[in-house]
Amino acid sequence: MLPFTFQNPTKILFGEGMVSRLGEQVRSFGSTILLVYGSGSIKKSGLYDQVLEQLKSIDARVVELSGIEPNPRLTSVYKGIELCRSEKVDFILAVGGGSVLDAAKAIAAGALYEGDVWDFCIHKAVIQQAIPLGTILTLSATGSEMNGNAVISNWELKQKRAFGSPHVYPAFSILDPTLTYSVPRNQTVNGAVDIMSHVFEQYFSRTTDTPLQERLCESILQTVIENTPIAIEQPDNYEARANLMWCGTLALNGGLISAGMQNDWASHGIEHEISAIYDIPHGAGLSIVFPNWMKYVYKERIDRFAQFAERVWGIKRDSRSDEEVALAGIEATRAFFTSIGAQARLAEFEIDREHIDEMAKEAVLFGPLGSFKKLEQTDVRQILEMSL
Ligand code: NAP
Ligand code: FE
Repeated sequence: MLPFTFQNPTKILFGEGMVSRLGEQVRSFGSTILLVYGSGSIKKSGLYDQVLEQLKSIDARVVELSGIEPNPRLTSVYKGIELCRSEKVDFILAVGGGSVLDAAKAIAAGALYEGDVWDFCIHKAVIQQAIPLGTILTLSATGSEMNGNAVISNWELKQKRAFGSPHVYPAFSILDPTLTYSVPRNQTVNGAVDIMSHVFEQYFSRTTDTPLQERLCESILQTVIENTPIAIEQPDNYEARANLMWCGTLALNGGLISAGMQNDWASHGIEHEISAIYDIPHGAGLSIVFPNWMKYVYKERIDRFAQFAERVWGIKRDSRSDEEVALAGIEATRAFFTSIGAQARLAEFEIDREHIDEMAKEAVLFGPLGSFKKLEQTDVRQILEMSL
C-alpha cells in the first residue's frame, strides 16, 4: 500500500424527501444563489418548483442558468461566470446529472479567476479558490456529487478535458433516489457503466497488498451488477435506485476505495477523445472502450484479472489456467454490458476510422496514458481499432 492523504469535505443528505432540507443547507452561504440546471428534466419532474420554494423560504435571490448540455460546454461555463460576476453570486446550486454539476464547478472556480477558466483544463493554471457550491443529484453515474473533479468540452477546439481541485468539492449534496425514477433506460445504463468504469480505473492497479480496497471495489461492482437490471425493469424501485446512487457516490469520491493504490484512468482518457469529437454519452463510450482496454492490458497482471473474474463474476476455476479465467472475466464484463443494452462498437454511433489518428494523438498529449500499462499513441490507436 502506498502512502496517501484522504479528505472529503462533502456533506451527504441521502434519502427520500431530503430536498426539504435544502433551505437550511444554503442559508449560511449568503443570499444570492446561482441555480444551474440542464435542458428541462427538473421542470418535468417538479423538482424545479420544490427547489424554488425552498430558496424562497430563506429569502434567497435566485439567478438562473439553464440549458447545460450533456458533455457540458465551455460556452455555458462562460455564461455562468458572467452571471456570477454581474449578479455578485454567493453560492452556486447545481441541480441535475454530472454534466450540470461539472459545469457548476467550472463556473465556481472560473468566476474567481482572472484568466480563462479553460486554463484549469489544460494544466496551465491551478485552482486557488472557488465560490462555494452545493448539489441536488438527479442521475447516478459520475460521483461528481462528492468529488472535486469536472470534465468540460471545448467544442471549438474539439477537446474534452478534466480538472480536479479540493476547492470545488460540493459543500453538500442532496441524494434522493426517487429523483432518479425518471431517468430513461439508456441513461440508467450509461450511468451504471460509468460507475463500474470508475471502479475499474482504480481496481486494475499495479499496487499490491491492498485487500480491503480491492474488496471495496469488488463489492461496488457486484452491487451495480445486481441492481442495474432491477432499475431498468422497475424504474421506481426505491432500493435499486438507492443502491445505484450510493455506489456511484462511493465509486469516485476522492479516493476512498483506492486509498494507497495507483490509479489508471486510461480508458477515461480514450473515451474523452471520442466524445470530444462525436459528442456521444460518456457511459456509452466507456462501454465500448473498457473491455477492449482490458483485453489489451490484462497480461500486465493476470492475477488481478483472474481475481476479478472469480470474485466479481463468480467464474469457477475448475482446471483452467489463470489466463483462461482472466479472459472469461473480460468476456463476462462485455456480456453484462450487452445484456443491459450498452453499446459494444463505435460503429453503433456511425463512428469510423476517420479521426482515429487524431484521437490517439490527443489522448497522449500530456504523456503516456494510464499507469497499469503506460499507453503510447500506437497503443491507444490499437484499442480504438479494436473498438470500431
Ligand atoms: P448528464 O450528461 O448529466 O445527463 C444526461 C441526460 O440525462 C441529460 O439529458 C439530462 O437531462 C438527463 N437527466 C438527468 N437526470 C434526469 C432525471 N432524473 N430524469 C430524466 N432525465 C434526466 O449525465 P451524467 O452521466 O451524469 O454526466 C456525464 C458527464 O459527466 C460527462 O461529461 C462525463 O465526462 C462527466 N463525468 C464527470 C465525472 C466527475 O467525476 N466529475 C466522472 C465521470 C464522468 P437534463 O439536461 O434535462 O437534466
Ligand atoms: Fe466517468
